[in-house]
Amino acid sequence: MEKAIRKAAQWIKNCSFGVALTGAGMSTESGIPDFRSPGGLWTEFEPESVGSRSGFESSPTEFFEMARKIGPTLLAARPNAGHKTLAKLEKMGYLKGVITQNIDGLHQNAGSKQVAEVHGTIYEVRCPGCPEFHTLDELVQKGLVEGQNPPLCDKCGGILRPNIVLFEETLPEQPFLNAKEWVGSCDLLLVAGSSLEVTPVNVLPIIAKQNEARIIMVNDEPTRQDNLADIILRGKTGVILPKILQAIQDPYEK
Ligand code: NAD
Repeated sequence: MEKAIRKAAQWIKNCSFGVALTGAGMSTESGIPDFRSPGGLWTEFEPESVGSRSGFESSPTEFFEMARKIGPTLLAARPNAGHKTLAKLEKMGYLKGVITQNIDGLHQNAGSKQVAEVHGTIYEVRCPGCPEFHTLDELVQKGLVEGQNPPLCDKCGGILRPNIVLFEETLPEQPFLNAKEWVGSCDLLLVAGSSLEVTPVNVLPIIAKQNEARIIMVNDEPTRQDNLADIILRGKTGVILPKILQAIQDPYEK
């Protein structure tokens, strides 16, 4: 493992265009459950109904029950050592940016500047009748403090919802275009904390591979696309990523 970490560090140090692709596993060490690990959200809720557009439209109360359950945890979460490492790698010039499926804003909180949020963010709130975004504070006040379910817009009476991508919905255009451009140009892709089960994001490593980028995967379990990886580092992102950074900073490593 130590040898593989040193090799990953060397590749990152020598790459000319590095990009990270992250998933829910990045944030489990910040206390936010992922979907598919044991004890993840999917063990409690049915994704196809609760987390889909048709499910939201037919039963928004169920969606907000889930949101009420996870909301306080999401809002209290702080970046962990994995997020901080990716932010440092960007600052040091080794990463162009982070493509993330996460909606928790922890990469930005850790200091990452170039973040393509391909599944949206909880920090924007929208309703069907208003052109402008509402604030997360308004949603929290209505949904968590006042217990409105579903929380409704004062202006038009529409159901407020976080600006996140549900199953059956398309990805926000600009972040996904950025993501595709980055993976199409990168010579190194660092995938961290994603099962790579979700489409179309799991196309991104394939694009990178087609362009002959090296792929490093950090995950605590096998993923659907391990066959694409040049280096697999099995373990926690909050442990492995800082070790890679340490090896990059080691003056005795070339
Ligand atoms: P996923 O749940 O499908 O996969 C997470 C992967 O990370 C799993 O393979 C798991 O074994 C691994 N993992 C968990 N903790 C880890 C750790 N500390 N270190 C290393 N590996 C770890 O998540 P996904 O691939 O991101 O896709 C599912 C969807 O989950 C995405 O659409 C995303 O929007 C959504 N999601 C996001 C959050 C969040 O914003 N934090 C939380 C839950 C779900």
